[in-house]
Amino acid sequence: MAEEAIQNENFSINQEWEQICSQLKMEFGETAFESWLKPLSVGDFNDGIMNICVPTTFMKNWVIAHYSDRIHKIWEHKNPDIKKVCFVVQNSASGNVKVDVSLLKKIKSTPTPQSIYGLNDVTAPCGNDQYLSSQLNPSYTFENFVVGKTNEFAYAAAKKIAESRNVAFNPLFLYSGVGLGKTHLMHAIAWHIKKQDPSRTVVYISAEQFLYKFVKAMRYKDTAAFKEQFRSVDVLMIDDVQFLANKVKTQEEFFYTFDSLMEGGRQIILSADKSPNDLDGIETRLKSRLNSGLVADIMPTDFDLRIGILNKKAEQMGVKLPQNVADFLAQKISSNIRELDGSLKRIVAHSQLLPSHEITLDMTQEVLKDMLRSFERKTTIDEIQKKVAEFYNISVREMQSLRRARNVARPRQIAMYLAKQLTSRSLPEIGRKFDRDHTTVMHAVRKVEELMVEDAALAENINALQKALEE
Ligand code: ADP
Ligand code: MG
Repeated sequence: MAEEAIQNENFSINQEWEQICSQLKMEFGETAFESWLKPLSVGDFNDGIMNICVPTTFMKNWVIAHYSDRIHKIWEHKNPDIKKVCFVVQNSASGNVKVDVSLLKKIKSTPTPQSIYGLNDVTAPCGNDQYLSSQLNPSYTFENFVVGKTNEFAYAAAKKIAESRNVAFNPLFLYSGVGLGKTHLMHAIAWHIKKQDPSRTVVYISAEQFLYKFVKAMRYKDTAAFKEQFRSVDVLMIDDVQFLANKVKTQEEFFYTFDSLMEGGRQIILSADKSPNDLDGIETRLKSRLNSGLVADIMPTDFDLRIGILNKKAEQMGVKLPQNVADFLAQKISSNIRELDGSLKRIVAHSQLLPSHEITLDMTQEVLKDMLRSFERKTTIDEIQKKVAEFYNISVREMQSLRRARNVARPRQIAMYLAKQLTSRSLPEIGRKFDRDHTTVMHAVRKVEELMVEDAALAENINALQKALEE
């Protein structure tokens, strides 16, 4: 009987973990999930402490620094019995990476108190090679970057910086819409510099991680180590600086880091989704710094570049892409390169399941049916906000406001839900349109999904709104 209770408990914990994993994947993205979270497994659960097994110490520190708070929050929410989440190193050589049902509760592990909060996260060495390579995508190189009219300037600037030891222009500020190659170019610069001269210290970090590390450093009153790791590098790259919007303290810290590196003649490379002048919530003095070097934008792709990219990617995958299929894809999928790449991968995967292995136009249209439908509707978040606000008789301004009254909050949640359904915008992007963060959007989407099951009238209204927006 007791055994059965334990087994049930283990079953539900495993189930909870699976759900948590799906949520983490959604929040942090596929790449981060695959690199850091997938290798984790549930360990034993004792006196409110949930142990999670991690294969290496390096990984443990990383996970604690970046994900433990979130994991704890989600789990606590799902299961109030869980008071603490700890991470213990358990490599497969020593067994027990996957906990055997019958062993549950028998395995005793003693995590150190510090492993709960990760005191050492702020000193996680950003400037070392191991860290750098864990951040860089191996295929984001110059060789794999297809150059066309819309990106040739940004490419040339990136190449120049990568190849010259003397600082040519500083900082380099790259900007474009999503999925057009900023991150690719930054990784390419990093790979190139390290290949030419492995002794140079290169740090590549997303603005989100920078912010996170800074906040943690402040919390543990360890800002000296934080400053040190960014001010002692040869090349500092910060990706997606729009994430620093309205983060006053972090911007200030970044500002000093920036000046200190510039004074020392070190190279700085930044990216954002808008030009420095158009960035909202960034201090004026910082904007002027961002503008002070070379600003290069990547424009939306043109047809020729899309064809070039498709052919290059097909060649790398070792498949022959018929001209009419390439034309079709390049015509239909013009939004960004990530989508283009994704659709190519999908048809290649399908073709490999077919006896003939042949890629044809018919098959492409069939395989991409759902995806293409979503590209055909051009609904924007602005339109969604407008329509939903109109429907519920509130103003768009109220929808974007901080007011939490039900008559405003509910339409806001519905608009967030529809934005997720009808556009290809990410959760943080949707959040920004509502002046909220991605967790709020995620919560809204889930809430509306629940409500639609419970409340038929509401579901009908939402479906009607969706139809109207799709027209
Ligand atoms: P951004 O950072 O601007 O959102 P990414 O650099 O992540 O965009 O690019 C999205 C995807 O498109 C990546 O897989 C990247 O390799 C690919 N990509 C972007 N531009 C090019 C290009 N010019 N040639 C080949 N692949 C590209
Ligand atoms: Mg990017």
